[in-house]
Amino acid sequence: MKGASHAVTGTAIGLGTAVLYDAAPAATGLLILLGSVSALAPDLDTNGRLSNRISLHRKWLWYTLASIGVLLGTYSLVMLQGVWMVAGIAVALSLIIAPRFLIKQRFMVMLSGGVLTGIGWFYSEDWLLYFGLFTIICSFLPHRGLTHTWIGLAVFAFIAWELEKSLMINGILTVCTLGYLSHILLDMKMLPFNKKGVKLLQPLMNKEF
Ligand SMILES: [Zn+2]
Repeated sequence: MKGASHAVTGTAIGLGTAVLYDAAPAATGLLILLGSVSALAPDLDTNGRLSNRISLHRKWLWYTLASIGVLLGTYSLVMLQGVWMVAGIAVALSLIIAPRFLIKQRFMVMLSGGVLTGIGWFYSEDWLLYFGLFTIICSFLPHRGLTHTWIGLAVFAFIAWELEKSLMINGILTVCTLGYLSHILLDMKMLPFNKKGVKLLQPLMNKEF
């Protein structure tokens, strides 16, 4: 199923949950947003669609690393001597040149996950720390692998539970779990628009549904 259809389903789940929990306007907006994000989250795995969107923009990372390289190079030339100066300039040059050749999409997803983990850790927001780690792990997984199983669902529900505890808004766990589940169900083979199914009981059972 296409990303847009997943997002629309997630939005509907968010709205439905908001009505069910009689949520205030701001909470309603948040639940709708979380519904669509959750319905896209399983595709954070390597070739997934969402990963193309949420990862930091590649060019900006190049510019940032290159700017750090220029600063470090200047600092090394002016302030350092001998081996330290040479080492400083070498690191500076690699920061300016290397990223263009090394940075790939999968790496960008991993890096975005790293940034989220760092922010979550810094502000002691456990849900963000866990979501960051989840994103990092997703960047290593094959498409329609573990993220499209009961394990992925359970981990995501746990992150949602942490978020609900942190924000103290009812319905977050419900909307995230249903949104994520809707993605897995809509990727199933029995639906006419899917050529490939999901092995949702992995690693217990290898059957494709
Ligand atoms: Zn999918």
